[in-house]
Amino acid sequence: MQIHVVGCDGGVAPGKQTTCFQLSESLCIDAGSVCGGLDFNAQRKIRDIFVSHSHLDHIRDLGFLADNMLTETSRINLHALPEVNRLLKQHFFNNSIWPDFTRIPSPQNPFYVLHDIEAETRYRFGEISVLAVRVDHVVPSTGFIIEDRNSAVVISGDTGPTTRLWQVCKAYENIRGFLVELAFPNALQEIADASKHFTPATLQKELAKFARKDTPIALYHIKPKFAEQIRAEIAALDNPAFRFLRNGERLQF
Ligand SMILES: [Zn+2]
Ligand SMILES: [Zn+2]
Repeated sequence: MQIHVVGCDGGVAPGKQTTCFQLSESLCIDAGSVCGGLDFNAQRKIRDIFVSHSHLDHIRDLGFLADNMLTETSRINLHALPEVNRLLKQHFFNNSIWPDFTRIPSPQNPFYVLHDIEAETRYRFGEISVLAVRVDHVVPSTGFIIEDRNSAVVISGDTGPTTRLWQVCKAYENIRGFLVELAFPNALQEIADASKHFTPATLQKELAKFARKDTPIALYHIKPKFAEQIRAEIAALDNPAFRFLRNGERLQF
């Protein structure tokens, strides 16, 4: 399995791109940087996007993707929890923040078709399957287990300490990697707890729930302003399983 890390940052600054993982040329998880990180030719091939939750850093480029591709692509399917789809309609594609591309160019043939997904149900796209699991964030949010014939990879989504995702993982013997969010340094533990994100300290405690021998844990969703501090705190943990994702890299599992 290959995962193209289009964007792995928890905020925007020069060179920083918010969350977007490309699983195949037509399938993505989150759309924070689907335009900022992919050229028009790559954007043109996108057909399905899973949206983990409604926060701006994960949906921002859905607006610009519709702008860029409206005249070229007949439709793109958005897959999300029913609550997330409702929030997208109510607060983003509402003709105030952005045009309602769930009804443009026409209600019968809109650019975006919203599909309600069920948590813990497998959705298949060719050789790849995607299973969403609810995690613990301040809005309804999911992590994902991605699987193909050879391997499975877990993407935590935005979450603080959580339970169900790691329980579901236990059934998978073929997990080759964990992509786990980490947003704030330890000094901002209160903010991390209130916004339901990890710090190095809470992530370290969380490891007992999911870490496996020889399975790498790639960290993403770092808030750019605190990147150096977070890297130093992770280095101090001296855990060889940890590494940081980089924008543009292609992970092979
Ligand atoms: Zn979030
Ligand atoms: Zn986020």
